[in-house]
Amino acid sequence: MPTPRIGVFVCHCGLNIERTVDTKAVAGALSEYPGVVYATDYDYMCSDPGQNLIKEAIAEHRLTGGVVAACSPAMHEATFRRAAEEAGLNPYLFEVANIREHCSWVHTDRAAATEKAIRITRTLVEKVKGNHPLEPIEIDHVDKCLVIGGGIAGIQAALDVAEAGFEVILVEKEPTIGGHMAQLSETFPTLDCSQCILTPKMVEASRHPNIRLLTYSEVVDVSGYVGNYTVKIRKNPTYVDPDKCNLCGECANVCPETVESEFERGLASRKAIYIPFQQAIPSSYTLDEEACLGLQPLRCSECAKVCEPGAIDFDMQPVIIEEEVGAIIVATGYDLYPIGNLSEYGKGEVPDVIDGLQFERLLSASGPTKGEIRRPSDGKVPKRVVFVQCAGSRDPENHNPYCSKICCMYTAKHALLYRHAVPDGEAVVFYIDIRAAGKDYEEFIQRATEEERIVYIRGKVARIYRDGDQVVVWGADTLSGKRVELRADLVVLALSIDPHPSTRKISRILKISCGSEGFLKEAHPKLRPVESLIAGVFVAGAGQGPKDIPESVGQGSGAAAKAIALLAKEKLTHAPEVATIDEEVCGGCGVCVAMCPYSALSLNSAGVAEVNEVLCEGCGTCVSACPTGAAQLLNMTDSQVREMIEVALDG
Ligand code: FAD
Ligand code: SF4
Ligand code: SF4
Ligand code: SF4
Ligand code: SF4
Repeated sequence: MPTPRIGVFVCHCGLNIERTVDTKAVAGALSEYPGVVYATDYDYMCSDPGQNLIKEAIAEHRLTGGVVAACSPAMHEATFRRAAEEAGLNPYLFEVANIREHCSWVHTDRAAATEKAIRITRTLVEKVKGNHPLEPIEIDHVDKCLVIGGGIAGIQAALDVAEAGFEVILVEKEPTIGGHMAQLSETFPTLDCSQCILTPKMVEASRHPNIRLLTYSEVVDVSGYVGNYTVKIRKNPTYVDPDKCNLCGECANVCPETVESEFERGLASRKAIYIPFQQAIPSSYTLDEEACLGLQPLRCSECAKVCEPGAIDFDMQPVIIEEEVGAIIVATGYDLYPIGNLSEYGKGEVPDVIDGLQFERLLSASGPTKGEIRRPSDGKVPKRVVFVQCAGSRDPENHNPYCSKICCMYTAKHALLYRHAVPDGEAVVFYIDIRAAGKDYEEFIQRATEEERIVYIRGKVARIYRDGDQVVVWGADTLSGKRVELRADLVVLALSIDPHPSTRKISRILKISCGSEGFLKEAHPKLRPVESLIAGVFVAGAGQGPKDIPESVGQGSGAAAKAIALLAKEKLTHAPEVATIDEEVCGGCGVCVAMCPYSALSLNSAGVAEVNEVLCEGCGTCVSACPTGAAQLLNMTDSQVREMIEVALDG
């Protein structure tokens, strides 16, 4: 091994480090450390002059490696390695010693912090001595994107990726795309008709030459790695050929089986053969085999008898479609918190206590009442409607602890639209506080409270129950300190937003994480909001957390931009600091194979472990699990770690 010539660059980070750590003393101590030929300090190493200082020192002192003692490597490792590379040094011979987060920010004693900074920097010098020059691993990739979930977030993502010239497979669980936005009447804050702005996008997605739409379908398996995922999708049988179906509706007319319509949220019924709503895409009927009198053996077949084009095929089978894709966008959306969990509000057993989406259907011109507000119990126009916010939200003891973010706004919209529909009606809103932090949102709330004469009562509703043909709402007005008891004709609960029930399952299939509330977890809440921790898998929309339409669309486009950036690259690269196996030492016990969280290891035909470098994320789990020491991480071997610990503890 040639004698190392290591440079050390100690950063002040303004006063972030300098206030607590004597950076000159650190540079001075390191300049005398074995293997170090140059050490200096500077205000901001990450600045252009700081990087130039590093580049000049590499050339002038013929450095074989370097350590920048600064902030976390998560912040600037790439910056310093790029500088080293520009100066002709292999970037993997450059390391960052974290003397900010691990030292200056967490200590107050300057002398002790300086001593600790010296030790931290020494450990990285020892690491550099053992480092080898490495090259990033290059990966070919497939130019295709999978989008899971055909709500507005998924539709937007699919359209953006397709417009950039890449093929997209859009997978939707239900018989139609559109998601919850298709159920909404008018949308805050502009009050434009939801379907009017959504359906052109649905049509565009279905007609786009780069988009393959797979509705009534689910992703059942995903394997592979960034740029090269193999996806298995199960397309469930609709028993109707969409190319032949002419939407005549004769089948539904004769079908004897009636069930609650999911789209109308139980406020209307549908037949076993049905179309969710008139503008559904694809525009075709679906036979719901759960609701049908029986397919095996066939017990009815009335629909097929009247279907003139012969579109109905009772022998249709599920099909497994296998696709190779380079990137995946998950936009699985939300569901409402189960009303059955709210025993204090009648568990969904009081007919005139409904949820927000049901109220959307009552407001909607295409809904079961053609836009007239009528009570589910007796069809009468309700003259007093009580809206209850935070139903199941912000209640860590009993329900969801978090704020659902959109319900203050949609409740104001509901109350306002109710007043438009029933001008002599009274709208009362119970709220804890109003959260309306969006563009023009506060003005919308002002309009509801001031111009539209909607009564806002600050307080939590404790109980709701039925009394005769009315509903009694018990609450407390926390501003006046008085108990409130109201008799209402209709109560609308602003139920909490839950992740879609399939979120956990899809996250397991994709090996991406969910947060404690079950929403899809982003890689970094501020800096990487649409990325997951799995390379090439992105998240968008209300599946990542409660979101309104503008935010869902924004995230859909954001995730699409990330996917496009990935697919547009000629080759992808992967960090080379991965595990290696010494075949001579490996006993083939398979412990590492079982432990690796990225499925990067397998036993080969010779019975020894083998690393798939592209899958390996360099986490080191296998290294610590291997009983023989055969598994090692490149540039973080056991002997490097031993040396680092020794100098950290030395003296
Ligand atoms: P979703 O609309 O939930 O769509 C997700 C899609 O993914 C669904 O089609 C689902 O079937 C599909 N899916 C789920 N799992 C899978 C799977 N495993 N495989 C395949 N597909 C899957 N926002 C506004 O901006 N203005 C408003 O006025 C407004 N009013 C609202 C009123 C109410 C009562 C509610 C509850 C919400 C309202 N919103 C409003 C919010 C709006 O509904 C959401 O912002 C929007 O629907 C989020 O879109 P999304 O695509 O993320 O999710
Ligand atoms: Fe379609 Fe046939 Fe039903 Fe008519 S009868 S809606 S063509 S499936
Ligand atoms: Fe409650 Fe408003 Fe938050 Fe919804 S958005 S949980 S109604 S505070
Ligand atoms: Fe798997 Fe981590 Fe070992 Fe790589 S370092 S093979 S990711 S356990
Ligand atoms: Fe070989 Fe070690 Fe893996 Fe066992 S744990 S198979 S010995 S590398």
